[in-house]
Amino acid sequence: MQDFDVVIVGGGPIGIACGLEAKKQGLTYAIIEKGPIVNSLFNYPMNMQFFSSSEKLEIDDIPFISKEAKPKRNEALEYYRRIVTSNQLNIHLFEKVLDVEQKKAFFNIKTDKDTYKAKNVIVATGFYDLPNKINVPGEDLPKVSHYYKDPHFYASQKLAVVGASNSAIDAALECWRKGAEVTLIIRGPEVGQRVKYWVRPDIVNRIEEGSIKAYYNSTVKEITESEIVINTPQGEVTLANDFVLALTGYRPNFNFLEKLGIQLSDDGKRLPAYDPETMETNVPGLFLAGVICGGMETHKWFIENSRIHAPIIINAIKNKMAAADKES
Ligand SMILES: Cc1cc2nc3c(=O)[nH]c(=O)nc-3n(C[C@H](O)[C@H](O)[C@H](O)COP(=O)(O)OP(=O)(O)OC[C@H]3O[C@@H](n4cnc5c(N)ncnc54)[C@H](O)[C@@H]3O)c2cc1C
Repeated sequence: MQDFDVVIVGGGPIGIACGLEAKKQGLTYAIIEKGPIVNSLFNYPMNMQFFSSSEKLEIDDIPFISKEAKPKRNEALEYYRRIVTSNQLNIHLFEKVLDVEQKKAFFNIKTDKDTYKAKNVIVATGFYDLPNKINVPGEDLPKVSHYYKDPHFYASQKLAVVGASNSAIDAALECWRKGAEVTLIIRGPEVGQRVKYWVRPDIVNRIEEGSIKAYYNSTVKEITESEIVINTPQGEVTLANDFVLALTGYRPNFNFLEKLGIQLSDDGKRLPAYDPETMETNVPGLFLAGVICGGMETHKWFIENSRIHAPIIINAIKNKMAAADKES
């Protein structure tokens, strides 16, 4: 069984930052990622542009050069990929962590391919794997998706986009520009206030001029092969429909966190318990990094403000190991 100072679960930007920091500080480590390098970013919309400028997405001060101030998805893939390959980080791809078992002074990390032993574990599994479902009949039809990739697919089609935040609004605008007939279904009274400030006027104007139809204070009642039924303040509306993009956000894998023994707050936010000074959870030796820290508040943490978790955690692990060495 391979034995490490630290195993990092998740090879997103923050998991990679943790691996790089561990390597720099002389710890033995492995990053285990269930998909390709930065799997979540790989699955983002094809033409996605970050709201952060590139220097704010840098890890370990390694320069991130992009064509425009705010990089595109492809540039971010290139940047994080190069960090992994140039630094020869020990990353195990397409390997899923199934369980982390605490033994006395170490953890057993069980994956679908192997078992590893580590003194410390960092969970950096993000939140992009589990979409928030709208829980209506027809949600499982093949024409419904919780992930948006490429506008070309929807050209000349009747597309309903559910949601009012950045993902939904970007998808609605892009698809309309590529010739889709777009209807937005928005639960609240307006387009989300957190929509990027340079995109909000665009969508508001498209709705006002009637190019994109929006139903406010409305929810989906049912989806069928050829229609979508919407509850609106004016009553039920049935529209002809080819595809539905239900872009209503994502959530961390709370079952996984609970299985690991991490306490979650019971105030609806499901915030995991951790010490912000060290990022160590209520389970000694088990740390959290990246957007997973936000519980249901998935907008609180992003790359910009969570890349700092890497040095915080690796310093904490080094201090713990030094203290343990002194004792023995
Ligand atoms: C559309 C969109 C735009 C965004 N724009 C920005 C921006 O402009 N600026 C910014 O700072 N942030 C932005 N964010 C947020 C940012 O992308 C995330 O904060 C970032 O991906 C978080 O990194 P992470 O490493 O914490 O999590 P992730 O990138 O989600 O990485 C988690 C990794 O863990 C892996 N994983 C999960 N479970 C397991 C398991 N059991 N075993 C092994 N591997 C596992 C996943 O495959 C994934 O690769 C955006 C997010 C979205 C959705």
